[in-house]
This record gives sequence, C-alpha cells and structure tokens, in this order.
Amino acid sequence: MSPIGCFRRWASPLKKLQHKHKLLIASSFTITTTTTTTADKGEKPSRPFPPPIRVSLTESAGRGVFATRSIGSGDLIHTAKSLLSHPSLSLLHTVCYFCLRIKTTSISIDQAVFFCSEECREHSKGFYEIEKKADWSAFDEQCRMRGLKYPLLVKRLACMVLSGIASSDSLDILQPASLSPGMIVQMEEEFGSLRYTLTKAGIMDDQMAFLTKQWYTGVLARIRINAFRIELVGGSYEDLLLSAAASVEAEAAVGNAVYMLPSFYNHDCDPNVHIVWIDNVDARLKALRNIETDEELRICYIDASMNHDARQALLFEGFGFQCNCLRCLSGD
Ligand SMILES: [Zn+2]
Ligand SMILES: [Zn+2]
Repeated sequence: MSPIGCFRRWASPLKKLQHKHKLLIASSFTITTTTTTTADKGEKPSRPFPPPIRVSLTESAGRGVFATRSIGSGDLIHTAKSLLSHPSLSLLHTVCYFCLRIKTTSISIDQAVFFCSEECREHSKGFYEIEKKADWSAFDEQCRMRGLKYPLLVKRLACMVLSGIASSDSLDILQPASLSPGMIVQMEEEFGSLRYTLTKAGIMDDQMAFLTKQWYTGVLARIRINAFRIELVGGSYEDLLLSAAASVEAEAAVGNAVYMLPSFYNHDCDPNVHIVWIDNVDARLKALRNIETDEELRICYIDASMNHDARQALLFEGFGFQCNCLRCLSGD
C-alpha cells in the first residue's frame, strides 16, 4: 500500500501534452471563482481570496497553473469543491454518498446509502430522487465485475442533469482521453445498461435526450483522465482501513471525484504542490516547497516513490504521455 494520503490519479492529462489545439479556455486567465480560501483545521491560506494562481498556456504541455506571487512551503494555495463524486461501491454504507466522509457512528441506518449530514442529504436530493426510482443492481454488478469506477460518476452526472442541478456540458472544459476502439465498445455497453436502467424506471425519452452514446463516451473520456482517487488523511481513515481489511471487496480509496481547477495542474515526478483530502472530498492544494512568482505549479499524478521506469510505464499507460520532468531527465 502506498503512503496514506499519497496523491494518485489514475487518469491522464495527455491533455496538456497532446491536445493543445483543443484547449477550450482562453490562453490565460486569473482564477476568481470555484475556489474558496476558507479553511478549517487551523490551516490558513497565507493571503485572502483570490488564490495566487493563474491558468495559462505552457511552452510544451498545453495549459498549466502558475503562481502569481511567491508562495511559502506548506502554504495552502487553495481549496476546491468537487464537480462530481462517488464513493467506492464497497463502501456505500461506510462513507457519505455525497462528501465521502467516513461514518463515525456504528448505528446502522436502514437505507441503501449513508449521508453524513442534513447538508449532504440536501445537496444530494436532486440526483438521489432520480436514482431512487431505478433498480441499479445490474448496472452496479457490471461495474463490480469489471472493476469499473468511472461509470458510477457518469451515472451520477446523468442523474444530476435529469434532476436539473447540472448541465449536460458541465465537464466539456476538461480535456478528454484518446479512446481505443476496444474502450469505445465497452463504454457503449455501459451506456446501454445506464440508459436501460433509467428507461425501466420510467424516465421519458425526451428527458433523456442528452443521454446519447456520444455524450456517455465524451463524459467518460474526460473522467478517465481527470478523476482523482480519493484517499483521506483524516483520523478515522486508519479505522476504515482496519475494518476494510475484513472485507475482500473493500478498497483503500473512499471514492473518486472530478474537479475543475485541480485538473489544470500538470504532472511532475518531483512536484512543488500536492493535493490532500483531510476528512472528505474537499481538496486542498498545498505547496511542498517555496515557490517563486510565475513558477509553474505541478502535482504528481502517481506514487512518486516508484523508480524511473515504473513511473514512465504507468504515466504512459494510464495517462498517455511520456514524462520529461527534470527528475526523469536526470534518470532518477
Ligand atoms: Zn457528507
Ligand atoms: Zn517525470
């Protein structure tokens, strides 16, 4: 097992390396929205809102995130709310269905899923009302059998769109993965299962007009290279792992989530920023060392303790690019 809290993202920002022409945002803008600097747990952003970053084009890797002033080692640069999240299937009764917080009470709740608070229940109301109408057992089983996590995120987005709380183009700004014909065939099967489940639940065709094969594969292609695997560093995480050890199916990750701004960070095997999750899906981007004004901020998409060849293989296979960071170039 990797160090707890180690950042991993099983998806790939080949975006930055290969698809510059597809950039959907202006070449440079300063972040003024989607983040908050109100942090708890005694962490203080070093300066007030807005966060000290801008998103601009890099010389060779598409868009990237840059510091707009010097940032001190250990500083919280910004936080980010997820656009989309879903717990691991094996943990539906153990982590909050909305924010992925681990259940601390042993009281069992006679419900299919667990919500940690009224607030989370309220936030979930829209998509959960739609979800509850359908029988997801076949869809979930398909995900379980094939070890798939991302269709669950597409399912959630579809239900969010159906309930009117999200737009069907919410993820369009994110870079999509290149898909092989084999992947597309599998995705089309998943699409069929999702559409069938919703149809059986009485959702009308006109409500589902957005839910086409093309939409499904487009969303999944974006999720593949932009979803973060969430491992919490907060207190009860150790307990979860202990109890999870009893269950063959249980996973170390509490779930997966998609964010906007964190997806714009490029990769480095010797990163200057890391992303951490304390006790729920809210992400924190923190400086790992002193950063100069205009320096590019980068995170590590994989376990940085792996050796050069293992890193290159994983980055290429999972993320679709060859890493040319200084550490890789030095052969380390
Ligand atoms: Zn919650
Ligand atoms: Zn590298």
